[in-house]
Amino acid sequence: MKTIALYHDQPERMEIDALVLSSAAADKRLYLVLDASPFYPEGGGQPSDLGRIAGLAVLDVQIVEGEHRHYVDCRDPAQLPAAGSTVHCSVDSARRQDHTCQHSAQHLLSATVLRLIGAATKSFHLGEDYCSIDIDCPQVDGQTSRLIEAEVQAAIDNGYALHTHVCSHAEAEQFDLRRLPPADEDQLRIVEIDGFDFTPCCGTHVGDTSQLRLFRLLRAEKYKSMTRLYFLAGERAVADYRKLAELSSVSAALLGCAEADIALFVQQQAEKLQAAERQLAAQRLALAACRSEYLLALAAKPAEQTDKSIESSGLDLIYSTDAVIGIRAAALDMAEAQLLAKTLAGHGRVALVLAVPVVTVVAVAPDSSWQLGRTLSPLLPAKDGKSGPSAFSGARGGGGPASFQAALPDNETALAFLKEACRLLSLAAPQQKAKSSGPGPA
Ligand SMILES: [Zn+2]
Repeated sequence: MKTIALYHDQPERMEIDALVLSSAAADKRLYLVLDASPFYPEGGGQPSDLGRIAGLAVLDVQIVEGEHRHYVDCRDPAQLPAAGSTVHCSVDSARRQDHTCQHSAQHLLSATVLRLIGAATKSFHLGEDYCSIDIDCPQVDGQTSRLIEAEVQAAIDNGYALHTHVCSHAEAEQFDLRRLPPADEDQLRIVEIDGFDFTPCCGTHVGDTSQLRLFRLLRAEKYKSMTRLYFLAGERAVADYRKLAELSSVSAALLGCAEADIALFVQQQAEKLQAAERQLAAQRLALAACRSEYLLALAAKPAEQTDKSIESSGLDLIYSTDAVIGIRAAALDMAEAQLLAKTLAGHGRVALVLAVPVVTVVAVAPDSSWQLGRTLSPLLPAKDGKSGPSAFSGARGGGGPASFQAALPDNETALAFLKEACRLLSLAAPQQKAKSSGPGPA
């Protein structure tokens, strides 16, 4: 006995009493076969209905070898309703309604895309997270997207009727089909939208397009050699509209402008921000040059004339030779520390700056002959986590010929690292005569 497909014949029936024909297990899942089913089985891109049968949750519905299998949330075959018993079935109607709506919108979208740009629909996805179609077209621009969206909405507003023709292959040939019907089915279901779109389909559909209410084409993106169109219809589109309206209202309140002026306001603010960032970058450059001059002047003074720090600037001269200069910077962020090291390196010395708040040493050489990475990497713990004899425990970093960076676990270790790095680089300076100046090498 074959299950009567009520989801096709009487799709409005969400609650019925049915007779259990059989039950069995497949792939460790238990299922029931009924004499009639209101549950749509997965097919044609539309997921299966869910709901309850005799109080058991329906997890999935599939047609396997012509049999309608209702997989239920039950692990013990003895708990399943016996063959011959009558069970109450209820379909999750909100889920069905949503699927029916998105699926019907897909028909309308595919028909519209074919009519407007001649692109056939190659696949359809209907998920809880998103709905999309892949169309045979390498790209769809913004103007075309807006036109497609407007045309679909116009068709919704017109309330075109949908009809289903159950017929043979020979009868189906009289319709101008949008795509070929499956060859392995004797009885076809041809879904018509008011005389202008005919397509073979086994899904569930709205009675007329006005039931779709609202449509939004979210975006078009390249997918392989095709274009993927993401869309929303019905309650999903209405919920999306409410979300956007809320976002617009909140944004306008935050920006202190009218909703209609949000885009203009944001554009103006972005331009102001770019100008401010350019100004800040120029000022940082000037400040780094100023700091460099101070530090180099400080390094040139005899040790007894100064305590080797710039008054209240947070900059301490830790190490200085003709070839290498080491600074501790208490009030500089990483970008400022890097800029300072780069500026000092521009004066012909390898510059190492310990930025204290982030406990990181940045080193910049005047040129790549210094091989900073090769010289300083031995100070870092070995990659296997075991510290070598000269390694600073907990240090992480690396670098190339002209730049190096190391993050240290604490200030004390960082200062020791800075001094040792300065010493190693002074020794490694082949053409530079290490002439002590100021505090000098420790
Ligand atoms: Zn359909």
